[in-house]
Amino acid sequence: MVKKQTTTKTECKDKHCFIHGSDKAKLRGRTFEGEVIRKLPGRVTIQFERMMKLAKYERYEKRRTKLHARLPDCMADSVAIGDRIQIAETRPISKTIHFMVSKIVKTAEVKGAKQ
Ligand SMILES: [Zn+2]
Repeated sequence: MVKKQTTTKTECKDKHCFIHGSDKAKLRGRTFEGEVIRKLPGRVTIQFERMMKLAKYERYEKRRTKLHARLPDCMADSVAIGDRIQIAETRPISKTIHFMVSKIVKTAEVKGAKQ
């Protein structure tokens, strides 16, 4: 097994972190759940599906939504691509980011242990 790097978990340099930040971004508004499809330092992209009704055909269509969210330092180690996470709305942190990772719902299953 590969040993994980030892990190000081108590330290969190993210000033926007909603727990430790000096310039805290309060969580408020809507929350969404989705799968992590991209992970970059300090931010993640999640994707989820929603159903949209097509009135003309009286049927539903799947639409995908992507959202960018801030990933605080203290959570950076515990979030990986494929995980299901919850994000909560906050004030705009940058042009594309106005959500913050608030909770990890389910970590990705380890596939293909054999082979
Ligand atoms: Zn933090």
